Amino acid sequence: MKSHPSLSAALQRIEPSQTTAMTDCATSLREAGRDIISLSVGEPDLATPDHVVEAMQQALRDGRTRYTPVGGTSEAKRAAALHFTRDLGIEASPANVTISAGGKQAIFHALCATIDPGDEVVIPAPWWVSYPEIARFAGASVVPLPTTPASAFRFTAKALEAAITPRTRWLLLNSPGNPTGAVFPADELLAIADVLDRHPHVLVMSDDIYAPLRYNGGDHATLAALRPDLAANGDSGRVLTVSGVSKSHAMTGLRIGFATGPEWLILAMERLQSHSSGNPCSISQAGAVAAMEGSQAFLGDWRDIFRARRDLVCAAINAMPGLSTPVPDGAFYCLVEAAPLIGGKIADDGALALHLLEHGVAVVPASAFGGAHCGLAGFRISFAASEDTLRTALQRIETAVKAL
Ligand code: GLU
Repeated sequence: MKSHPSLSAALQRIEPSQTTAMTDCATSLREAGRDIISLSVGEPDLATPDHVVEAMQQALRDGRTRYTPVGGTSEAKRAAALHFTRDLGIEASPANVTISAGGKQAIFHALCATIDPGDEVVIPAPWWVSYPEIARFAGASVVPLPTTPASAFRFTAKALEAAITPRTRWLLLNSPGNPTGAVFPADELLAIADVLDRHPHVLVMSDDIYAPLRYNGGDHATLAALRPDLAANGDSGRVLTVSGVSKSHAMTGLRIGFATGPEWLILAMERLQSHSSGNPCSISQAGAVAAMEGSQAFLGDWRDIFRARRDLVCAAINAMPGLSTPVPDGAFYCLVEAAPLIGGKIADDGALALHLLEHGVAVVPASAFGGAHCGLAGFRISFAASEDTLRTALQRIETAVKAL
């Protein structure tokens, strides 16, 4: 990254987001006339539901273009509380939820509001690109908790116990996980909670944004629902659950995230938000209310669409020489291993991603997700694109691989 003497030490600790950088690069190349398929960003291609669009149009017509309360309108807070209670089984009320400009902002504010220099944040790897960068920006050092395909990218309670120190401030959980699709079952989360009981200084972020996208049935398991005592409203409450409408309702650009947790943490996040963005977009909040209060019946159909895409991509990748991918249990990403293709002409997985880009497909290298901590080199495919688009992209990947 380009440096400049005026950049703060905090800024110099972080890199730009590689998911958004690769997507912006694909957009620029397309604007310059190149035929690029972008499988780099986790963004459903499906249309935002009509009733959501109508609610936003109505909000505009009603002139709801003014500031709202910093942490969201009372309608939006009620809708978020409804979502946490109905969809995730977490006891939530408007007093312990907050609305932000996407889940990313909630995570940013929560970490920046609680981390002091020298603190540690335990993050299971492979991880979503922004977790370690936000932790480092806030002043923490990152403690990776490596996982492998053999354990379905889930860490054990024992590994967590070994990673915790007196300086651990946060454990970040993400189930279903980005980029691995890992889904933690209830018994494993309860074992994790047993470890947390022995370390009451550790806060827990549970990023559940992909909860509707689980392909193996069963109820969604999340720590705050399984162990409400850990998420209680008092000072001892220490679980923050993050969700939102971006992935579930195809509302990525509208930037609405939800978080629920103990009041002390919600208020701290809102204190910071009052000086960063202020309130999240008023029109998007109206859309999020419609999304949460309207029918959720289509989510099952959408999940089936994503399952078919997942199966298409995994079968094709696993048939290509030098590439392999486990079949993810949730979310809409495949983490492709490509170690046999790396070495010689292709120095690392960043070079492999550039090679694929030359063949017209944008993906994000596994190194962006902390793959090196897990001995993993390859790339992430977002299969949130139509089957036709995916088929063309897979043909291009095959051609690119054969060209090596
Ligand atoms: N979370 C999505 C992804 O991983 C969106 C882009 C981003 O914010 O990283 O692709």
